[in-house]
Amino acid sequence: MTRVLLATRNPGKLVELRRMLSGVDGFEVVGLADVPEFPDAPETGATFAENALAKARDAARETGLPSVADDSGLTVDALNGMPGVLSARWSGRHGDDRANLDLLLGQLTDVPDERRGAAFVCAAALVVPGGQETVVHGEWLGRIVRAPRGTNGFGYDPVFVPEGDERTSAELDPAEKDAASHRARALAALLPHLREI
Ligand code: IMP
Repeated sequence: MTRVLLATRNPGKLVELRRMLSGVDGFEVVGLADVPEFPDAPETGATFAENALAKARDAARETGLPSVADDSGLTVDALNGMPGVLSARWSGRHGDDRANLDLLLGQLTDVPDERRGAAFVCAAALVVPGGQETVVHGEWLGRIVRAPRGTNGFGYDPVFVPEGDERTSAELDPAEKDAASHRARALAALLPHLREI
């Protein structure tokens, strides 16, 4: 059994990542609550990939465990790709999902329906202490609706409608989100590298 650390302090992400890795044989998944505490470095990278790699490197160095970290966010076409890497702190306070979402809806008030395209993007990094470093990406295309709907998921899920659906990602069952999301796609791309450890 290989122990793999999921290095995220975001409870919504942790639940999803755990669920996705739970069916994979040969791994014992541990969270940050299961290892000695270490300081959280600020996210200063210009890209999702840089931030994911920095988080996974820190975790691997501090714990000696193979570590997986993700950096993710929402890119909105009408905002030239923002909030992007600033998604978690768009309203100025890190992790205030409701304030972030309200600010985004306000900014898009005058944007017509045909220009409300967006994508969730995820970079997932795997760092093996003294060994391999891998970064992969996943993307989930959709659009931003005008009012929040649904109670599943986290973050911007209540205002994101994936392509081919009319429901927001907060109205999808967890299993439906896991089958399609940016995080699921990135983890699927990471699995062959995890199996090589
Ligand atoms: P970070 O990767 O910790 O910088 O934070 C990512 C931020 O992007 C979250 O706080 C959410 O606001 C947003 N985000 C990332 N993935 C999702 C998702 O699956 N659903 C909704 N919001 C997400």
